[in-house]
Amino acid sequence: MTAVFQDTAKKRDHDDFIQWKSDNPDGYIINDLGNGTGMLHRSDCRHINGPHQTVEEGKSMTVRRKLCSLDRDDLNSNATDQKGNKLSIECCESCKP
Ligand SMILES: [Zn+2]
Repeated sequence: MTAVFQDTAKKRDHDDFIQWKSDNPDGYIINDLGNGTGMLHRSDCRHINGPHQTVEEGKSMTVRRKLCSLDRDDLNSNATDQKGNKLSIECCESCKP
């Protein structure tokens, strides 16, 4: 199952996203870059765990959509943008998912 986290005008998904990551350290996460491309990371990748992205500093990690799943194949098949168009997936060089 793929979970989607994204902030809207009404709600902020940051905390739920952090909870998902902590519950699923072996999961996969696609960061929707908003240009038709998604970057695939492992759940514990430092690129999506940076202290520079904490809410305390006034930022949220779910300004950009995050697609999360324990199953990489499931995640890839659900990797679409907000309009339902298929995302082109790139793999993070750092965590090498
Ligand atoms: Zn990564």
